[in-house]
Amino acid sequence: MNADTIIQATNVAKWYGTFQVLKDINLTVRKGERIVICGPSGSGKSTLIRCFNRLEAHQEGDIVVTGVTLHDKMKDVAAVRRNVGMVFQHFNLFPHMTVLMNCMVGPMWIKGVKSAEARKTALQFLERVRIPDQANKFPVQLSGGQQQRVAIARSLCMQPAVMLFDEPTSALDPEMVSEVLETMTSLARDGMTMVCVTHEMGFARAVADRVIFMNSGQIVEEGKPHDFFTNPQHERTKTFLSQIL
Ligand code: ADP
Ligand code: MG
Repeated sequence: MNADTIIQATNVAKWYGTFQVLKDINLTVRKGERIVICGPSGSGKSTLIRCFNRLEAHQEGDIVVTGVTLHDKMKDVAAVRRNVGMVFQHFNLFPHMTVLMNCMVGPMWIKGVKSAEARKTALQFLERVRIPDQANKFPVQLSGGQQQRVAIARSLCMQPAVMLFDEPTSALDPEMVSEVLETMTSLARDGMTMVCVTHEMGFARAVADRVIFMNSGQIVEEGKPHDFFTNPQHERTKTFLSQIL
């Protein structure tokens, strides 16, 4: 495996009971790459990226993340999660903690960072997502777009090797989508390795190195954004694009 490889999935398969949700998935994510995954609801997009930080377990094939092979007998799943940031559709902030504490607890509890240093890092990343002034508020006092930017800052505080995004703008009111996409675009410009499940095709065109289309648990097609959007090869991809564009 190339030293630049952050995630390598080889012939990955997964079942929920008797239902096969992932079928022979092969995907390599290299350092600095921006991958967009799209596809119809239920096609397995969330399940796939949740396998990358071991929120879900796969049953066949291999997944190697930052050099660590994911398997049932792993001793230290936390070591993988430390390296893999994840941003969810519904933000998943800790409601009983301030914005600042939301950003401090990961480094403090998981990495053993001292509170003064965690605070400094948290403020730096809240600045990075342009909401340092909200640091002492609670999540419920923030707009959806602000909450999602806190969720991004919170992940960044762990200094992950890769960031996974699972439809980060789908739960937002329309007027808040762009502020989150701008934050993601700026991360991409800074060279962050990113795997984004999103149907924001403007973002995909502007930022993605590769767009991957999933259907029924399979990667049906992948290509550079320009080729993918202007000249999709598969009938299923064409239908999907005609529905969302
Ligand atoms: P997507 O993110 O593309 O919408 P998901 O990965 O969430 O797709 O789901 C893929 C399929 O797996 C769907 O049919 C969904 O109903 C099913 N599924 C997802 N999570 C579970 C689960 N925990 N148990 C059983 N089936 C699940
Ligand atoms: Mg999903």
